[in-house]
Amino acid sequence: MSLDLAYRSFVLSVAGRKGVERLIKTRARGLVRRYVAGETLEEALKAAEALEEKGVHAILDLLGEMVRSEGEARAFQGQILDLVRSLAQRPWPKYVSLKPSQLGLDLSEGLARELLREILKEAEPRGVFVRLDMEDSPRVEATLRLYKGLREEGFSQVGLVLQSYLFRTEKDLWDLLPYRPNLRLVKGAYREPKEVAFQDKRLIDAEFLHLGKLALKEGLYVAFATHDPRLIAEVKRYTKAMGVPREGFEFQFLYGVRPEAQRRLAQEGYRVRAYVPYGKDWYPYLTRRIAERPENLFLVLRSLLGG
Ligand SMILES: Cc1cc2nc3c(=O)[nH]c(=O)nc-3n(C[C@H](O)[C@H](O)[C@H](O)COP(=O)(O)OP(=O)(O)OC[C@H]3O[C@@H](n4cnc5c(N)ncnc54)[C@H](O)[C@@H]3O)c2cc1C
Repeated sequence: MSLDLAYRSFVLSVAGRKGVERLIKTRARGLVRRYVAGETLEEALKAAEALEEKGVHAILDLLGEMVRSEGEARAFQGQILDLVRSLAQRPWPKYVSLKPSQLGLDLSEGLARELLREILKEAEPRGVFVRLDMEDSPRVEATLRLYKGLREEGFSQVGLVLQSYLFRTEKDLWDLLPYRPNLRLVKGAYREPKEVAFQDKRLIDAEFLHLGKLALKEGLYVAFATHDPRLIAEVKRYTKAMGVPREGFEFQFLYGVRPEAQRRLAQEGYRVRAYVPYGKDWYPYLTRRIAERPENLFLVLRSLLGG
């Protein structure tokens, strides 16, 4: 296992302990402000406006995942419906992301599908696009089924995410081709065992480019969601060399990560979106950001030491 992945694995396992959660929740406010737009929809929309002024479009994401009761799933759905309705009244952004486990996927696939269907019925006629985030590997199969089922029901303003660290992803991509998916390609943010995922960063990066090029060759729309300057440069080079039009792909970033690069790409004429998370349930999201970047752990440790 490469050092970065060993670090990630360590952070994600420790972050699950209640004591650690309590400490981070009280002492990592600075980090939360960097990565999370706020606790309310109003704060998220304000962040979206600021991005738009820089030519970067927002993807609104109500934080929340792995719910344990139907009531919780329905409550999240209600808030997502509010979000969709409020986006419908604005010229932009018209884009939300959500996690299937936020809508009760772990309780029942039928429940998640029903709640998603209701969201899409509101979103599609209002021109709001809905992206299903991809969670950890035990949820991949069900998420793919959800996506395919919704497409078979005739919904079109829905997309999904593929993760280059999973061995299975190339086969998933081939299986998805008949659905002409609007894809977001990521490296993958979870702790995955060596039986299902590459453990070497170089292989994950190589796979990211391989899958992205394959999807573009097949004529799919691809959102390259990475902050990695080397991969972004290669996507720019490849799309130019192959004559892929700028409308055929985009770059996506996370709120608070490399904002200068986001703005620069937008100025160069690329379509750029930033994922703007908001809500009270920010802890799991924040731990994945800490796990991606050792510097963030140092910031947390410094604040614990009162620095
Ligand atoms: C829009 C978007 C949506 C995503 N959706 C999903 C999803 O649905 N499922 C999923 O599993 N994963 C998702 N991810 C996360 C993704 O899988 C990676 O964990 C994350 O993007 C970090 O990988 P990287 O490609 O940026 O490359 P890395 O190799 O991790 O990083 C490359 C460089 O980017 C910068 N960087 C990376 N992360 C950070 C950070 N947290 N803070 C500051 N700088 C950083 C650093 O300069 C680093 O050297 C999403 C990412 C984005 C951008």
